[in-house]
Amino acid sequence: MKEFFRFKDEEWSPIQIFIAILLALSFSIALRYIWVDNFKDAESFKWLNQIMINTNDGYYYAEGARDIEAGFHQEKDLSPVERPLSKLTATLSSILPFSFEAIILWMPAVFGSLLVIPLILIGQSIKQPTIGFIGALVASITWSYYNRTMVGYYDTDMLTIVFPTFLLWSIILNLTHQENRYLLLPPILLALYYNWYGSSYSLNLAMLGMTTLYILAFQRREIFGYKLLTLLYLALIPVLSLQEKIGLILAVFGVIFFFENRKRSEINNIEESGTVVRLADSKRESGLNIDKFIILSAIISAGLLAYFGGVGGVLGQLKGYVFREEVASVGTELSLHFYNVAQTVREAGSIPFETFANRISGHEITFMLASIGVLLMMAKYRVMLLAIPMVGLGMLALNSGLRFTVYAVPIYGLGIGFLIYILTKDINQKFIRFLFMGLLTGAVLYPNVKHIDEYRVPTVFNKNEVTVLDELKYKAKREDYALAWWDYGYPIRYYSDVKTLIDGGKHMGNVNFPVSFSLMRTQVESANMARLSVEYTERNNTANIIENMMKDHKFKDPNLFLEYLRRPDIDLNVEKSRDIYYYLPLRMMNILPTVGLFSQLDLTNGNQIIKPFFYQTQNFKDTGREIHLGNGLIFDKQTAFLKIGNVQKPIESFIVTKYDNSGKLNVQKLVSRKGANISIIFMQSYGKILVVDNYVLNSTYFKLFVLEEFDENLFEPVIMTPLAKVYRLKK
Ligand code: MG
Repeated sequence: MKEFFRFKDEEWSPIQIFIAILLALSFSIALRYIWVDNFKDAESFKWLNQIMINTNDGYYYAEGARDIEAGFHQEKDLSPVERPLSKLTATLSSILPFSFEAIILWMPAVFGSLLVIPLILIGQSIKQPTIGFIGALVASITWSYYNRTMVGYYDTDMLTIVFPTFLLWSIILNLTHQENRYLLLPPILLALYYNWYGSSYSLNLAMLGMTTLYILAFQRREIFGYKLLTLLYLALIPVLSLQEKIGLILAVFGVIFFFENRKRSEINNIEESGTVVRLADSKRESGLNIDKFIILSAIISAGLLAYFGGVGGVLGQLKGYVFREEVASVGTELSLHFYNVAQTVREAGSIPFETFANRISGHEITFMLASIGVLLMMAKYRVMLLAIPMVGLGMLALNSGLRFTVYAVPIYGLGIGFLIYILTKDINQKFIRFLFMGLLTGAVLYPNVKHIDEYRVPTVFNKNEVTVLDELKYKAKREDYALAWWDYGYPIRYYSDVKTLIDGGKHMGNVNFPVSFSLMRTQVESANMARLSVEYTERNNTANIIENMMKDHKFKDPNLFLEYLRRPDIDLNVEKSRDIYYYLPLRMMNILPTVGLFSQLDLTNGNQIIKPFFYQTQNFKDTGREIHLGNGLIFDKQTAFLKIGNVQKPIESFIVTKYDNSGKLNVQKLVSRKGANISIIFMQSYGKILVVDNYVLNSTYFKLFVLEEFDENLFEPVIMTPLAKVYRLKK
């Protein structure tokens, strides 16, 4: 076993390291090109001759970057002009010769590929650059890391793993080399990481805790570790801004450096004067002083961090993921209950082992082997114990959802690199050894490359939808609002430059409720609520807009207030300050039941009032007398009954919609039994059949989008296309 574990140190020259980094970078970016290649002819994925991005959140940062470049934005428009990713994008866009669309498309691939640098450097720090190089190749394209840094995945994720891996490398570098010239790297990287991604606090704290333990266990007699800890603790204090942190870090570093230098020159002076006795005394004395000072400053900075940040921030973060509540109550006196979005977010759920292993290593077998590799590597190089927090966070995924797996990827890459290295190290012939290393690495890469080729994520929107939003940009003013479900908030703001009530970040139950209400209730209710919501949001953007409306209209019972909104003639008590445009896309039909969930709550207790019925299919068969709709639903054309399993239900109406040659939507309605509460709609031009109850049929979305039956006193069609329709609210 000892023999197995003994191997030569290796070190590459700076040029070799540089070449290795270039190779790994090219490899990582080249594989990311596969997605682009797969879609290069898909015109519907392109806008301004460029493939569009494939992550919704990306439009948020893109809006911020666009506004930074423009030099202005609107009050309360939620544009993230202060976010680091927006600033970075705007800076790149102003210096690079590429279009804005090309920059946001490629940024994630280029920045995400930077992961190879710290991995190769970690290899170099532990004197095994080959392990670092294999780890870099593997990690850069491994399943979950690829998914979150692929071309078009324009989000903070592009650096969310790169930063902690750089941080890990810089700490390892310091602990293995113990040189002052590297001392500023870890604290500055940590501060930058926290600034880039605020949710990194827990991971940073864990890495800091691990570094502290490591130093206390293995280097407690050496003063260097305490210098590092002092600076790291200060770098994490959450109340300080990035600039303040960097100032503080430089100042403290300066002080330490000054005292150490003075000590050194004192000793030199004494040595020169030749008084041997005094030298020993003085050395001990001043040595003690500076050492005491450094240990004391480490304790003080730890105290400052505990006081200003502590573990409170960690608990707050965990709470959101681990303890998920379905219905949240918000508000002060009335404590209204709203539906919470957290549990509709796919990422926050436990995942099966196979998925978990695939995400971290690309394959279950690789995962098992890499796990062994990681353990062996930590046994051989104890400084690798510092990677435990990243691995641990990855393991959290088994319970808390797949968003965390990606943190384990870099370390698992190194783990498999380590294993491949020791398996091949005793092959004497260099060529055969490299061949084996290559084959084994190739075997590990293969399932990941296959995943890349199969992972054909579409763009967020398609060209025709963006065309509608682009047109809206010229029809609406920047201060106007687009009313739409939160999924479309960011892209609408990016392409149309209008305001929205909700978006990918602002979608708590209380703010979703008014929008859901406006989409899913009748047109009068919808119009009243939309106008009130926009004016109240502009007036005071608080979590309690419904409560504020109720107060102003003198209502104590939310149900009575909502009932009041059914009246077309009520005085809304607000001045119309701007226009409101309803953005109604076809694709919302797929999430209609979810959108509905928010609107059917009894706000006093959070109970569902009704469960609306909505069914859609594109897979139906007309047998002459019957239409088979799938899932046991059969429509009998002669009797106008719907069979649901063994149950027979009469239908209220049968509606056919069809675009004629001039592009006008024709709607034919056959009423069968009034009050039957189930209707069938054949959207002929879409090849779609819908089965809905009256709640859905009478909803504003349905009337305006599917049937174009709008109340002319309330709505005016502005942009009408088969994929998305925009109406202006007249009220
Ligand atoms: Mg704007």
